Amino acid sequence: MSPMSIQPAPSVPPPPVPSAARPPRRRPSQLLRAAKGPLWIDLHVHSTASDGTDPPDQLVRRAHALGLDVIALTDHDSFAGLAAAGAAAEAVGLELMPGLELSAHHGPAHGPDSRPVHLLGYGCRPDHPELTAELKLIRRSRRERTPKLLEQLAGLGFELDLAEVEAQAGSAAAVGRPHLADAMVARGQVVDRDQAFALYLGDDGPVRADRHTPTAARAVDLIRAAGGCAVLAHPWARGAEAWISPAWLAQLTQHGLFGLEVDHVDHSADQRRRLRQLADRLGLAVTSSSDYHGRGRKGHPLGAERTDPAVYAVLRQRLVDQKGRL
Ligand code: AMP
Ligand code: ZN
Ligand code: FE
Ligand code: FE
Repeated sequence: MSPMSIQPAPSVPPPPVPSAARPPRRRPSQLLRAAKGPLWIDLHVHSTASDGTDPPDQLVRRAHALGLDVIALTDHDSFAGLAAAGAAAEAVGLELMPGLELSAHHGPAHGPDSRPVHLLGYGCRPDHPELTAELKLIRRSRRERTPKLLEQLAGLGFELDLAEVEAQAGSAAAVGRPHLADAMVARGQVVDRDQAFALYLGDDGPVRADRHTPTAARAVDLIRAAGGCAVLAHPWARGAEAWISPAWLAQLTQHGLFGLEVDHVDHSADQRRRLRQLADRLGLAVTSSSDYHGRGRKGHPLGAERTDPAVYAVLRQRLVDQKGRL
């Protein structure tokens, strides 16, 4: 059933309601909300705290204006956007699920056979010592990677300074390849982030440098230790089906994985169907999210996928059980 299903208009206008019985006047946004039906929940969005282009407070206001009820802010390897997003969420009356997208790896730690894996952590305590220490390592390694990538770009004839990348990263806590791509765009070396990744910066592209990440199992451990729930982000996006096997997913489930992000723009209808079957067999929750990055990524509009409110209720309850609060 579509949450947006439209009721047929009654052929006879209803009699006027006596003013005493009239419901209180509501603002248009509340009316839209009331008419919309089931909760609109997007559990994977990025802000300028990592590689999104909307500042966290604006992102929350944008989500509210669109009519979303719940968003999870899941910046890469940082909780830096949560305070501002939380304040804005409280002001507009939207529920903010605190999150992060933790960089991890599959296979060896380094080299061509090492593959990136992303774990969404929901409801983690942002001050958990072990998780905080790991995040510091990851962010330092991100910063140390940039000059290496710039050197390789220089070898391909692209002149680009560290200062230009830093200017693009602005206040971002987690500096990444998308900011490098933005610097290339600003120089006119590529037309957009997509082209930068497709031609140079992608995982199988000519410009590559190792960075520190934990194993996926350790990432799940850290998220759980911090009181959170771990969901594997876009498991089969961009060719990852070649290395993310059902057996590997079963192992990660044994390790305490909570769910799979099945509905993601980068998954085909057939992949979604098979991932749903897998989640069902392994007893994993199924989430549906946009991976919105603002102007930073085409085809991932805010709210593009909606997590089932029943799944969200289970996640929320699990977090409350684990920590006594969200
Ligand atoms: P990094 O975390 O610095 O290694 O960069 C990887 C990030 O770049 C991913 O998490 C995505 O958010 C982003 N990304 C990957 N591929 C693309 C692409 N084709 N276009 C835009 N952004 C991308
Ligand atoms: Zn990103
Ligand atoms: Fe990701
Ligand atoms: Fe993401």
